[in-house]
Amino acid sequence: MAQLSDDCFAFGGALLTVEAALAEIEARVSPVVQTETTPLLAAAGRIVARDIVATMNLPPHANSAVDGYAVAHADLTPDRETILPITGRAAAGHPLERPARRGEAIRIFTGAPMPEGADTVMMQEDCAFEEGRVRLKPGIKKGANRRHAGEDIAEGEIALSAGRRLRAPDLGLAAALGHHELCVFRPLRVALLSTGDEVHDPGAPLPQGAIYDANRFMLAALLTGLGCAVTDFGIRPDREAALADTLAAASVEHDLIVTSGGVSTGEEDHVKSAVERLGTLHFWRLAIKPGRPVALGQVGAVPLIGLPGNPVAAIVTFVVLARPLIAKLAGATACVPRFFPVRAGFAYRKKPGRREYLRASLEHDGDAVVAVKYPRDGAGILSSIVRSDGLVILDEATSELAIGAMVDFLPFSEVIG
Ligand code: AMP
Ligand code: MG
Repeated sequence: MAQLSDDCFAFGGALLTVEAALAEIEARVSPVVQTETTPLLAAAGRIVARDIVATMNLPPHANSAVDGYAVAHADLTPDRETILPITGRAAAGHPLERPARRGEAIRIFTGAPMPEGADTVMMQEDCAFEEGRVRLKPGIKKGANRRHAGEDIAEGEIALSAGRRLRAPDLGLAAALGHHELCVFRPLRVALLSTGDEVHDPGAPLPQGAIYDANRFMLAALLTGLGCAVTDFGIRPDREAALADTLAAASVEHDLIVTSGGVSTGEEDHVKSAVERLGTLHFWRLAIKPGRPVALGQVGAVPLIGLPGNPVAAIVTFVVLARPLIAKLAGATACVPRFFPVRAGFAYRKKPGRREYLRASLEHDGDAVVAVKYPRDGAGILSSIVRSDGLVILDEATSELAIGAMVDFLPFSEVIG
Protein backbone atom coordinates (compact mmCIF):
# COMPACT_ATOMS: atom_id res chain seq x y z
CA MET A 1 0.00 0.00 0.00
CA ALA A 2 1.36 3.41 -0.91
CA GLN A 3 1.41 5.63 2.12
CA LEU A 4 2.53 8.76 0.37
CA SER A 5 1.06 10.68 -2.44
CA ASP A 6 3.58 11.16 -5.27
CA ASP A 7 6.24 13.71 -4.66
CA CYS A 8 4.73 14.20 -1.30
CA PHE A 9 7.69 15.90 0.26
CA ALA A 10 8.43 18.14 -2.69
CA PHE A 11 9.31 21.60 -1.60
CA GLY A 12 10.81 24.25 -3.81
CA GLY A 13 11.63 26.97 -1.30
CA ALA A 14 14.99 27.66 0.27
CA LEU A 15 14.13 27.24 3.93
CA LEU A 16 11.05 25.47 5.17
CA THR A 17 9.55 26.50 8.50
CA VAL A 18 8.74 23.81 11.07
CA GLU A 19 5.07 24.77 10.79
CA ALA A 20 5.08 24.27 7.02
CA ALA A 21 6.95 20.95 7.33
CA LEU A 22 4.41 19.66 9.84
CA ALA A 23 1.53 20.81 7.66
CA GLU A 24 3.05 18.88 4.74
CA ILE A 25 3.30 15.72 6.83
CA GLU A 26 -0.25 16.15 8.09
CA ALA A 27 -1.60 16.70 4.59
CA ARG A 28 0.40 14.11 2.69
CA VAL A 29 0.91 11.10 4.92
CA SER A 30 -1.84 8.62 5.58
CA PRO A 31 -1.88 5.75 8.08
CA VAL A 32 -0.49 2.48 6.77
CA VAL A 33 -1.28 0.01 9.44
CA GLN A 34 -3.89 -2.67 9.67
CA THR A 35 -5.71 -3.50 12.86
CA GLU A 36 -5.36 -6.46 15.15
CA THR A 37 -6.75 -7.58 18.47
CA THR A 38 -4.50 -7.50 21.50
CA PRO A 39 -5.08 -8.75 25.03
CA LEU A 40 -5.46 -5.83 27.40
CA LEU A 41 -2.42 -6.95 29.39
CA ALA A 42 -0.25 -6.45 26.28
CA ALA A 43 -1.89 -3.24 25.08
CA ALA A 44 0.26 -0.60 26.80
CA GLY A 45 1.71 1.80 24.23
CA ARG A 46 -0.49 0.52 21.40
CA ILE A 47 -2.79 2.80 19.43
CA VAL A 48 -6.46 2.08 19.78
CA ALA A 49 -8.04 1.68 16.34
CA ARG A 50 -11.70 2.32 17.13
CA ASP A 51 -13.56 4.51 19.57
CA ILE A 52 -14.26 2.60 22.76
CA VAL A 53 -17.89 3.39 23.51
CA ALA A 54 -19.07 2.47 26.99
CA THR A 55 -21.68 -0.29 26.90
CA MET A 56 -22.29 0.10 30.63
CA ASN A 57 -22.26 2.73 33.31
CA LEU A 58 -19.10 3.26 35.32
CA PRO A 59 -19.52 2.69 38.19
CA PRO A 60 -22.20 0.17 37.26
CA HIS A 61 -24.25 0.88 40.40
CA ALA A 62 -24.59 3.69 42.94
CA ASN A 63 -22.27 2.87 45.82
CA SER A 64 -20.81 4.18 49.02
CA ALA A 65 -17.60 6.21 48.97
CA VAL A 66 -16.84 5.52 52.65
CA ASP A 67 -17.32 3.08 55.50
CA GLY A 68 -20.32 4.23 57.55
CA TYR A 69 -24.10 4.16 57.71
CA ALA A 70 -26.52 4.57 54.80
CA VAL A 71 -29.68 6.48 55.62
CA ALA A 72 -32.55 8.36 54.01
CA HIS A 73 -31.61 12.01 54.45
CA ALA A 74 -35.24 12.87 55.21
CA ASP A 75 -34.96 10.79 58.41
CA LEU A 76 -32.27 13.08 59.88
CA THR A 77 -33.13 15.85 62.32
CA PRO A 78 -31.50 18.99 60.90
CA ASP A 79 -30.31 20.66 64.12
CA ARG A 80 -29.54 17.85 66.53
CA GLU A 81 -28.42 14.23 66.66
CA THR A 82 -30.58 11.50 65.19
CA ILE A 83 -30.61 7.99 66.60
CA LEU A 84 -31.55 5.20 64.21
CA PRO A 85 -31.63 1.41 64.57
CA ILE A 86 -29.10 -0.54 62.48
CA THR A 87 -31.12 -3.08 60.57
CA GLY A 88 -28.93 -4.35 57.77
CA ARG A 89 -25.47 -4.63 56.28
CA ALA A 90 -24.08 -3.94 52.79
CA ALA A 91 -20.45 -4.67 51.93
CA ALA A 92 -18.56 -4.50 48.62
CA GLY A 93 -19.79 -7.44 46.56
CA HIS A 94 -22.55 -8.14 49.09
CA PRO A 95 -25.52 -5.83 48.48
CA LEU A 96 -28.39 -5.52 50.92
CA GLU A 97 -30.91 -7.81 49.33
CA ARG A 98 -33.96 -5.67 50.07
CA PRO A 99 -34.80 -1.97 49.89
CA ALA A 100 -33.91 0.08 52.96
CA ARG A 101 -36.94 1.11 54.94
CA ARG A 102 -37.53 4.59 56.28
CA GLY A 103 -36.31 5.18 59.81
CA GLU A 104 -33.41 2.73 59.72
CA ALA A 105 -29.65 2.86 59.20
CA ILE A 106 -27.76 0.28 57.13
CA ARG A 107 -24.17 -0.53 58.04
CA ILE A 108 -22.30 0.04 54.77
CA PHE A 109 -18.69 -0.24 53.50
CA THR A 110 -16.77 1.45 50.71
CA GLY A 111 -17.84 0.18 47.29
CA ALA A 112 -21.02 -1.50 48.56
CA PRO A 113 -24.09 -0.84 46.38
CA MET A 114 -26.34 1.85 47.88
CA PRO A 115 -29.47 0.17 49.23
CA GLU A 116 -32.58 1.33 47.43
CA GLY A 117 -34.27 4.00 49.56
CA ALA A 118 -31.02 5.26 51.14
CA ASP A 119 -29.51 8.38 49.61
CA THR A 120 -26.82 9.51 52.04
CA VAL A 121 -23.90 7.87 53.85
CA MET A 122 -22.60 9.15 57.18
CA MET A 123 -18.90 8.36 57.67
CA GLN A 124 -18.34 6.04 60.62
CA GLU A 125 -15.95 8.63 62.12
CA ASP A 126 -18.94 11.01 62.43
CA CYS A 127 -21.18 8.47 64.15
CA ALA A 128 -21.36 6.94 67.60
CA PHE A 129 -22.21 3.26 67.61
CA GLU A 130 -24.36 1.96 70.41
CA GLU A 131 -25.79 -1.50 70.91
CA GLY A 132 -27.98 -2.02 67.79
CA ARG A 133 -28.25 1.71 66.99
CA VAL A 134 -26.22 4.60 65.73
CA ARG A 135 -26.13 8.27 66.74
CA LEU A 136 -25.75 10.49 63.69
CA LYS A 137 -24.43 14.06 63.87
CA PRO A 138 -26.59 16.80 62.35
CA GLY A 139 -25.55 18.85 59.30
CA ILE A 140 -24.74 16.28 56.61
CA LYS A 141 -25.82 17.16 53.06
CA LYS A 142 -28.28 15.00 51.17
CA GLY A 143 -26.37 12.64 48.88
CA ALA A 144 -23.10 12.91 50.81
CA ASN A 145 -20.63 10.07 50.27
CA ARG A 146 -22.81 8.46 47.60
CA ARG A 147 -21.33 7.75 44.18
CA HIS A 148 -23.82 7.73 41.33
CA ALA A 149 -24.03 5.00 38.70
CA GLY A 150 -22.31 6.28 35.56
CA GLU A 151 -20.75 9.31 37.29
CA ASP A 152 -17.32 8.35 35.91
CA ILE A 153 -18.40 7.27 32.40
CA ALA A 154 -22.02 7.09 31.31
CA GLU A 155 -23.25 4.28 29.08
CA GLY A 156 -22.97 5.44 25.46
CA GLU A 157 -20.11 7.86 26.13
CA ILE A 158 -16.83 7.57 24.17
CA ALA A 159 -14.38 6.45 26.85
CA LEU A 160 -11.26 6.29 24.61
CA SER A 161 -11.06 7.79 21.16
CA ALA A 162 -9.57 6.02 18.14
CA GLY A 163 -5.96 7.07 17.57
CA ARG A 164 -5.12 7.32 21.24
CA ARG A 165 -1.86 5.78 22.42
CA LEU A 166 -2.82 3.63 25.39
CA ARG A 167 -1.26 4.53 28.71
CA ALA A 168 -1.71 2.82 32.06
CA PRO A 169 -4.90 4.68 33.10
CA ASP A 170 -6.45 4.05 29.66
CA LEU A 171 -6.00 0.33 30.19
CA GLY A 172 -7.53 0.63 33.65
CA LEU A 173 -10.55 2.40 32.15
CA ALA A 174 -10.93 -0.17 29.34
CA ALA A 175 -10.84 -2.98 31.91
CA ALA A 176 -13.31 -1.19 34.18
CA LEU A 177 -15.69 -1.09 31.20
CA GLY A 178 -15.38 -4.83 30.71
CA HIS A 179 -12.88 -5.10 27.85
CA HIS A 180 -10.35 -7.90 28.02
CA GLU A 181 -8.91 -7.19 24.58
CA LEU A 182 -8.80 -4.19 22.28
CA CYS A 183 -8.67 -3.51 18.58
CA VAL A 184 -5.39 -1.67 17.95
CA PHE A 185 -3.29 -0.75 14.94
CA ARG A 186 -0.52 -3.21 14.34
CA PRO A 187 2.89 -1.83 15.24
CA LEU A 188 4.64 0.22 12.58
CA ARG A 189 7.57 -1.75 11.17
CA VAL A 190 10.57 0.52 11.03
CA ALA A 191 13.93 -0.26 9.42
CA LEU A 192 16.75 1.62 11.17
CA LEU A 193 20.33 2.18 10.07
CA SER A 194 23.30 4.40 10.70
CA THR A 195 25.69 5.61 8.03
CA GLY A 196 29.33 6.61 8.17
CA ASP A 197 32.73 5.00 7.60
CA GLU A 198 33.81 6.31 11.00
CA VAL A 199 30.84 4.82 12.87
CA HIS A 200 31.35 1.52 14.73
CA ASP A 201 29.27 -0.64 17.00
CA PRO A 202 30.10 -0.45 20.70
CA GLY A 203 31.50 -3.61 22.24
CA ALA A 204 34.72 -3.85 20.24
CA PRO A 205 37.91 -1.74 20.38
CA LEU A 206 37.65 1.52 18.44
CA PRO A 207 39.90 1.89 15.40
CA GLN A 208 41.95 5.06 14.95
CA GLY A 209 39.75 7.99 13.96
CA ALA A 210 36.51 6.12 14.53
CA ILE A 211 33.55 6.81 16.85
CA TYR A 212 30.95 4.54 18.36
CA ASP A 213 27.41 4.61 16.97
CA ALA A 214 25.30 6.68 19.36
CA ASN A 215 22.38 7.44 17.07
CA ARG A 216 21.17 3.94 16.31
CA PHE A 217 20.77 3.08 19.97
CA MET A 218 19.10 6.39 20.75
CA LEU A 219 16.77 6.16 17.75
CA ALA A 220 15.92 2.49 18.37
CA ALA A 221 14.80 3.41 21.90
CA LEU A 222 12.82 6.41 20.67
CA LEU A 223 11.09 4.27 18.04
CA THR A 224 10.35 1.46 20.45
CA GLY A 225 8.96 4.02 22.88
CA LEU A 226 6.54 5.09 20.16
CA GLY A 227 5.35 1.51 19.77
CA CYS A 228 7.30 0.72 16.58
CA ALA A 229 8.72 -2.72 15.80
CA VAL A 230 12.31 -1.90 14.89
CA THR A 231 14.49 -3.93 12.53
CA ASP A 232 18.18 -3.16 12.99
CA PHE A 233 19.99 -2.75 9.68
CA GLY A 234 23.26 -1.87 11.39
CA ILE A 235 25.85 0.61 10.15
CA ARG A 236 26.36 1.21 6.45
CA PRO A 237 29.53 2.64 4.91
CA ASP A 238 29.73 5.92 2.98
CA ARG A 239 29.28 4.22 -0.38
CA GLU A 240 26.25 4.79 -2.51
CA ALA A 241 26.01 1.26 -3.86
CA ALA A 242 26.17 -0.36 -0.41
CA LEU A 243 23.63 2.10 0.93
CA ALA A 244 21.31 1.52 -2.00
CA ASP A 245 21.45 -2.25 -1.44
CA THR A 246 20.56 -1.84 2.21
CA LEU A 247 17.78 0.65 1.53
CA ALA A 248 16.30 -1.68 -1.08
CA ALA A 249 16.32 -4.52 1.45
CA ALA A 250 14.90 -2.22 4.13
CA SER A 251 11.99 -1.26 1.91
CA VAL A 252 10.72 -4.84 1.96
CA GLU A 253 8.13 -5.45 4.66
CA HIS A 254 8.70 -2.15 6.39
CA ASP A 255 6.48 0.88 6.76
CA LEU A 256 9.24 3.41 7.30
CA ILE A 257 13.03 3.67 6.93
CA VAL A 258 14.95 5.82 9.40
CA THR A 259 18.60 6.67 8.77
CA SER A 260 21.09 8.97 10.42
CA GLY A 261 24.12 10.68 8.92
CA GLY A 262 25.09 11.16 5.31
CA VAL A 263 22.43 13.70 4.41
CA SER A 264 24.52 16.85 4.32
CA THR A 265 25.82 18.17 1.04
CA GLY A 266 29.41 16.92 1.40
CA GLU A 267 30.93 14.45 -1.03
CA GLU A 268 30.82 11.73 1.63
CA ASP A 269 27.07 12.08 2.02
CA HIS A 270 25.49 9.33 -0.02
CA VAL A 271 22.04 8.78 1.45
CA LYS A 272 20.56 11.29 -0.97
CA SER A 273 21.92 9.71 -4.12
CA ALA A 274 21.12 6.19 -2.90
CA VAL A 275 17.51 7.17 -2.30
CA GLU A 276 17.32 8.97 -5.63
CA ARG A 277 18.42 5.77 -7.33
CA LEU A 278 15.62 3.80 -5.73
CA GLY A 279 12.79 6.25 -5.44
CA THR A 280 12.20 9.90 -4.77
CA LEU A 281 14.04 12.21 -2.46
CA HIS A 282 13.41 15.68 -1.18
CA PHE A 283 15.40 17.78 1.12
CA TRP A 284 13.84 19.88 3.64
CA ARG A 285 16.25 22.57 4.47
CA LEU A 286 14.53 23.38 7.68
CA ALA A 287 14.63 26.79 9.26
CA ILE A 288 15.69 25.37 12.61
CA LYS A 289 18.72 25.08 14.84
CA PRO A 290 20.09 22.55 15.57
CA GLY A 291 19.22 20.63 12.45
CA ARG A 292 20.94 20.45 9.15
CA PRO A 293 19.06 19.36 6.06
CA VAL A 294 16.71 16.49 6.73
CA ALA A 295 16.05 14.05 3.91
CA LEU A 296 12.51 12.93 3.29
CA GLY A 297 11.60 10.65 0.52
CA GLN A 298 10.50 7.22 -0.40
CA VAL A 299 12.13 4.01 -1.45
CA GLY A 300 9.54 2.40 -3.66
CA ALA A 301 6.40 3.21 -1.72
CA VAL A 302 8.09 3.18 1.68
CA PRO A 303 8.73 6.55 3.29
CA LEU A 304 12.23 7.36 4.44
CA ILE A 305 13.44 10.00 6.84
CA GLY A 306 17.16 10.74 6.83
CA LEU A 307 18.18 12.46 10.04
CA PRO A 308 21.41 14.40 10.46
CA GLY A 309 24.42 12.59 11.94
CA ASN A 310 25.16 14.93 14.80
CA PRO A 311 23.37 13.27 17.72
CA VAL A 312 21.74 16.44 19.07
CA ALA A 313 20.51 17.42 15.61
CA ALA A 314 19.31 13.83 15.14
CA ILE A 315 17.24 13.84 18.32
CA VAL A 316 15.82 17.33 17.78
CA THR A 317 14.77 16.57 14.21
CA PHE A 318 13.38 13.25 15.41
CA VAL A 319 11.23 15.06 17.95
CA VAL A 320 10.20 17.81 15.57
CA LEU A 321 9.59 15.79 12.38
CA ALA A 322 9.97 12.04 12.75
CA ARG A 323 7.67 11.79 15.76
CA PRO A 324 4.67 13.41 14.04
CA LEU A 325 5.42 11.46 10.85
CA ILE A 326 5.44 8.20 12.81
CA ALA A 327 2.27 9.11 14.68
CA LYS A 328 0.46 9.80 11.43
CA LEU A 329 1.72 6.61 9.76
CA ALA A 330 0.86 4.53 12.82
CA GLY A 331 -2.72 5.78 13.03
CA ALA A 332 -2.22 7.92 16.14
CA THR A 333 -3.99 11.24 16.46
CA ALA A 334 -3.14 13.85 19.06
CA CYS A 335 0.62 13.85 19.05
CA VAL A 336 1.06 17.57 19.61
CA PRO A 337 3.48 17.94 22.51
CA ARG A 338 2.55 20.42 25.20
CA PHE A 339 4.73 23.42 25.84
CA PHE A 340 4.79 25.13 29.19
CA PRO A 341 5.48 28.80 29.76
CA VAL A 342 8.49 29.33 32.02
CA ARG A 343 10.79 32.24 32.77
CA ALA A 344 14.13 32.40 30.96
CA GLY A 345 17.03 32.32 33.40
CA PHE A 346 19.38 33.53 30.67
CA ALA A 347 19.68 36.16 27.97
CA TYR A 348 20.18 35.06 24.38
CA ARG A 349 20.56 36.42 20.86
CA LYS A 350 19.54 34.53 17.79
CA LYS A 351 19.15 34.94 14.05
CA PRO A 352 15.56 35.77 13.20
CA GLY A 353 13.84 33.59 10.61
CA ARG A 354 14.57 30.20 12.15
CA ARG A 355 13.30 28.32 15.15
CA GLU A 356 15.83 27.43 17.83
CA TYR A 357 15.71 24.61 20.33
CA LEU A 358 17.92 25.29 23.33
CA ARG A 359 18.70 22.58 25.83
CA ALA A 360 17.71 23.71 29.32
CA SER A 361 16.90 22.53 32.82
CA LEU A 362 14.23 23.78 35.16
CA GLU A 363 14.98 25.38 38.49
CA HIS A 364 12.72 26.90 41.11
CA ASP A 365 13.19 30.57 41.87
CA GLY A 366 10.70 31.53 44.59
CA ASP A 367 7.27 30.95 43.05
CA ALA A 368 8.56 30.88 39.47
CA VAL A 369 9.98 28.05 37.38
CA VAL A 370 13.06 29.21 35.54
CA ALA A 371 14.71 27.58 32.53
CA VAL A 372 18.50 27.53 32.75
CA LYS A 373 20.32 27.00 29.48
CA TYR A 374 22.89 24.23 29.24
CA PRO A 375 26.28 25.93 28.98
CA ARG A 376 27.44 24.14 25.82
CA ASP A 377 25.25 23.96 22.75
CA GLY A 378 27.19 22.21 19.98
CA ALA A 379 25.14 19.78 17.87
CA GLY A 380 27.56 17.00 18.85
CA ILE A 381 27.27 17.48 22.63
CA LEU A 382 24.98 14.55 23.41
CA SER A 383 25.60 14.85 27.15
CA SER A 384 23.76 18.18 26.97
CA ILE A 385 20.54 16.27 26.22
CA VAL A 386 21.25 13.70 28.92
CA ARG A 387 21.79 16.47 31.47
CA SER A 388 18.89 18.73 30.49
CA ASP A 389 15.17 18.56 31.26
CA GLY A 390 13.94 19.71 27.88
CA LEU A 391 14.05 22.31 25.16
CA VAL A 392 13.38 26.04 25.24
CA ILE A 393 11.79 26.93 21.92
CA LEU A 394 12.48 30.33 20.45
CA ASP A 395 10.24 31.07 17.49
CA GLU A 396 11.25 32.43 14.11
CA ALA A 397 10.48 36.06 14.93
CA THR A 398 12.61 36.21 18.09
CA SER A 399 16.01 37.83 17.74
CA GLU A 400 16.77 38.68 21.31
CA LEU A 401 15.70 37.07 24.56
CA ALA A 402 15.92 39.09 27.75
CA ILE A 403 16.58 37.37 31.05
CA GLY A 404 13.25 36.94 32.86
CA ALA A 405 11.15 36.84 29.68
CA MET A 406 8.56 34.09 29.32
CA VAL A 407 9.51 31.27 26.94
CA ASP A 408 7.97 28.00 25.75
CA PHE A 409 9.50 24.96 27.41
CA LEU A 410 9.08 21.47 25.98
CA PRO A 411 9.91 18.86 28.63
CA PHE A 412 11.72 15.79 27.32
CA SER A 413 9.17 13.74 29.26
CA GLU A 414 6.58 14.88 26.66
CA VAL A 415 8.54 13.65 23.68
CA ILE A 416 11.38 11.28 24.42
CA GLY A 417 9.99 9.34 27.37
P1 AMP B 1 27.05 13.48 8.91
O1 AMP B 1 25.62 13.93 9.04
O2 AMP B 1 27.17 12.10 8.38
O3 AMP B 1 27.85 14.47 8.14
O4 AMP B 1 27.65 13.43 10.39
C1 AMP B 1 27.73 14.60 11.17
C2 AMP B 1 28.48 14.32 12.45
O5 AMP B 1 27.77 13.35 13.20
C3 AMP B 1 29.86 13.73 12.23
O6 AMP B 1 30.72 14.27 13.21
C4 AMP B 1 29.66 12.25 12.43
O7 AMP B 1 30.82 11.58 12.84
C5 AMP B 1 28.61 12.24 13.52
N1 AMP B 1 27.80 11.03 13.46
C6 AMP B 1 27.26 10.50 12.33
N2 AMP B 1 26.58 9.37 12.62
C7 AMP B 1 26.72 9.18 13.95
C8 AMP B 1 26.24 8.17 14.83
N3 AMP B 1 25.49 7.15 14.39
N4 AMP B 1 26.53 8.28 16.14
C9 AMP B 1 27.26 9.32 16.58
N5 AMP B 1 27.72 10.31 15.80
C10 AMP B 1 27.48 10.25 14.49
MG1 MG C 1 28.64 10.85 7.70
